[in-house]
Order: sequence, then C-alpha cells, then structure tokens
Amino acid sequence: MSVGLTGIGGGVNPEPIAIPPIHRIGVIGAGLMGNGISHVSAVAGIGVVMMDARPEALERAMATIAQNMDRQIKAGILTAETKAQALARITTAGDFSGFGDCDLVIEAIVEKEEAKRALYKTLTPHLRPDCMIASNTSSISITRLGASTDRAEKFIGMHFMNPVPVMKLVEIIRGIATDEPTFRAICALAEKLGKTIAVAEDFPAFIVNRILVPMINEAVYALYEGVASVASIDTALKLGANHRMGPLELADFIGLDTCLSIMQVLYEGLADSKYRPCPLLVKYVEAGWLGRKTGRGFYDYTQTPPRPTR
Ligand code: NAD
Repeated sequence: MSVGLTGIGGGVNPEPIAIPPIHRIGVIGAGLMGNGISHVSAVAGIGVVMMDARPEALERAMATIAQNMDRQIKAGILTAETKAQALARITTAGDFSGFGDCDLVIEAIVEKEEAKRALYKTLTPHLRPDCMIASNTSSISITRLGASTDRAEKFIGMHFMNPVPVMKLVEIIRGIATDEPTFRAICALAEKLGKTIAVAEDFPAFIVNRILVPMINEAVYALYEGVASVASIDTALKLGANHRMGPLELADFIGLDTCLSIMQVLYEGLADSKYRPCPLLVKYVEAGWLGRKTGRGFYDYTQTPPRPTR
C-alpha cells in the first residue's frame, strides 16, 4: 500500500512509499488516555488489545468506553450497532501474551521515563520485529525513549489530546531515528481515526504544551504578583482573548501537577529562565491542591459554582 502526504506539512509531495498497514494495535495503560485511544481505534474498525498492570483499571476503562459511546449515540455520532461492533473489537489483557500479532503498540502509561523504559524492555520480546511502537508522552524525548528500545527506527511520538474521543488534534513527533514508513503509517492511522495532524520536531513539550503551559504559568505569576484575582485573570482571558476557558480554570482541568512537571521539562530541557515554574504553582502542588481531580486547585470544586481560592 502506498500513500501521498497530502494534508501533512503543507504542500510537500514526497515519493510514494510502501507503508505498513495497521489492523491490530496494542494499547498499554488503560487510564484516561489509554481508554480514549482504544475507544477511537475500535470505532475506526481496528482490533485493540488493551493492557494494564491493574485489573481494576481495565474494568473501569471498559465501563468508561461504553459510557462515552452512549454519549456519542445520544449525539448521533454512533448507533447502538456500531457501538456493539466497536466494543467487540476490544479485548483486555494483564500481560503481553496477546501482543504477538499487533502491527503497532501505543504506550500510555504514567509520565515517568524510567517506568516507560522498563516497560519497553519487558514488552519488545513479545512483539513481531516489524511492530511499531508509539508513545503518547506529553513531554519526554522521543529520541531518548526510542533509543532505549530494540527498534528506534520504528518508534514515534503520537500525542493525543484529552478527552481523546472529542479532541481533534494529534501531534506526531519523529525521533531522530524514526523511519519514513513508520512516520507515514502513523499519519495514516491518525487520519483514519478522524484526527487532524500537527507534526512537531522532538523538542521538549512539542507544540501545544510548549505554548499553552508557559501561558498558564504566566497566569499563575500574575496571581502570585498580585496583578489580579483568579476570577479577574480568567474573565480577562475569556472575554479579552476569546479563550473558551480561563488559564487558571484550564490549569485545574489539566492538573496542577501535570502543569508543573511540563514546566520543569521545559526549564531543564531548554535551560532558559523564562520557563521557571511559578513558586505559587509549586506551592499548590506541594499542598496536594492539584485541581479538579483533588477537588481543589485555583477553584474549590466542593462549592457550586466552584469558588476561586484567591
Ligand atoms: P493515567 O494515570 O490516567 O493512566 C495510566 C495507566 O497506566 C494506569 O491505569 C496505570 O495502572 C497504568 N500503568 C502504569 N504503569 C504501567 C505499567 N508498567 N504497565 C502497564 N500499565 C501501567 O494517565 P494518563 O493521563 O492516561 O496519561 C498516560 C500518558 O499519556 C502519559 O504519558 C501522559 O503524559 C500522556 N498524556 C496525558 C494527557 C492528559 O491530559 N492526561 C494528555 C496527553 C498525553
């Protein structure tokens, strides 16, 4: 099979080359992102084996997928029949014994480099030599992750956005060793899943988080320096810049620990003081006020409507 690259990289028209087909994928990590990736893949007609180290995570993921599909039925995106067919394409596993016939594995476990490297070591002996591996990492170097596997040329970044069934974008990141067939196969897959691609070079935090998270950090500095209150900062950006959510509300949605760890990756990876994490952001994380998921961040979610904490 061969494809052109129309729609990728603005008018480039490279040589048609054979790209590996993807009929069956393994998804590792059945958390927030892994269940969304399994959902959209199964709806697109791809067989999925979803693996997690914790059986309860797999149970929860299957329930979430079914619920989210019901929401799509209500919205007229799926029918009861397509839901049943998609669910039947997903199997769950507690180990890698069913991964031998996967064309691609998408890894979506915790954002810890050591954990990802250790996982690849146990995973790769179970894979066909031509099986590609994509990481959904938000910030870790694809080149470094790829180099820790036995197949750097078949390793790539495929960064989905949360929530996966709703968000249109996928960032695709090539490591220095990633080969052209792998790149094109992943682009073709993203399009099959109904996503729009943005191709990024392998620099810390890629595109969206490189731009978005420093903006959030700057909003926290504005709060820290007493420029304005939480409510004023969010109102100002919503009405003054036409953003759907204010930056502090968005920080709570993403998770303040995640925002902090992305700022740390930028600060360390680019060695530039402009990425210094705001001390107030550090303090909120130290307090365990991580945003919506802990009930409190820049807003207190035990109140209705959520009340600003400053
Ligand atoms: P999560 O904590 O919701 O899920 C991670 C899952 O991985 C858990 O179910 C856990 O049991 C499982 N897991 C951990 N170690 C494992 C191992 N060694 N083997 C098998 N399973 C293991 O995390 P998430 O938010 O879904 O994030 C996953 C990845 O996606 C991270 O790399 C993250 O940076 C990235 N990401 C997250 C978001 C987001 O908004 N949450 C957005 C884009 C990308």
